[in-house]
Amino acid sequence: MISAEEFHRLRLRLDRAGVQLVAVSKTVPPDRILRLYEWGQRDFGENRPQELRDKRPQLPNDIRWHMIGRLQTNKVKYVVGTTALVHSADRPKVLEVLNQRAHRMGIRQPVLLQVRIAQEDTKAGMPPDEVRRFFDEGGPQRYPNLTIRGLMGMATHTDDFRIVRQEFRTLRRLFEEVRQGMPHFEVLSMGMTHDYEVAVDEGATMVRIGSLIFGPRA
Ligand SMILES: *Cc1c(COP(=O)(O)O)cnc(C)c1O
Repeated sequence: MISAEEFHRLRLRLDRAGVQLVAVSKTVPPDRILRLYEWGQRDFGENRPQELRDKRPQLPNDIRWHMIGRLQTNKVKYVVGTTALVHSADRPKVLEVLNQRAHRMGIRQPVLLQVRIAQEDTKAGMPPDEVRRFFDEGGPQRYPNLTIRGLMGMATHTDDFRIVRQEFRTLRRLFEEVRQGMPHFEVLSMGMTHDYEVAVDEGATMVRIGSLIFGPRA
């Protein structure tokens, strides 16, 4: 795990760039999450709804949880009303179920649309053209119980940072394009341990960092 000093240096660098840090705590036990909490971190990201459900009651309730992993519609119930932001709304069906659940709870759930920018087919998300069409056709109005706060994306996992940079740049351009006339649309979530520096350089407003902070996952 990162030292307190290294962590504060990371935070300072991100703060100066105006970038919010989500500490990705998937597979990390509560006591180590708490250590980071004591260092002042409040935003944590989980990728499994059940893991979030189990950990949340064991940790301080002013933590802002972020759901960053692929959502099955039957797991949506664990994330609506319990998370500050769902980053992984990656298809209309998921938006629909998130909206239904939020409606039933009488709340508005903040979400990001996950965009597929990587070449790898395994990566989830709506293709950029579909995202464009979604906004052109007044998509957000179909989900009155969701606040669409921005976009999320994952770059191709490669050491060729020209590819990574190009993908992040594509996402930033799409973000600038669709945010016109969209109130509350201000979050661009991109960059993880491997590529967050490129993401910050390309205009991320939020990065999701796990192993750099907590060490490699088992
Ligand atoms: C695990 C994960 C991260 C963090 O990955 P690291 O390489 O450990 O920083 C970021 N985003 C998503 C969607 C993840 O699943």
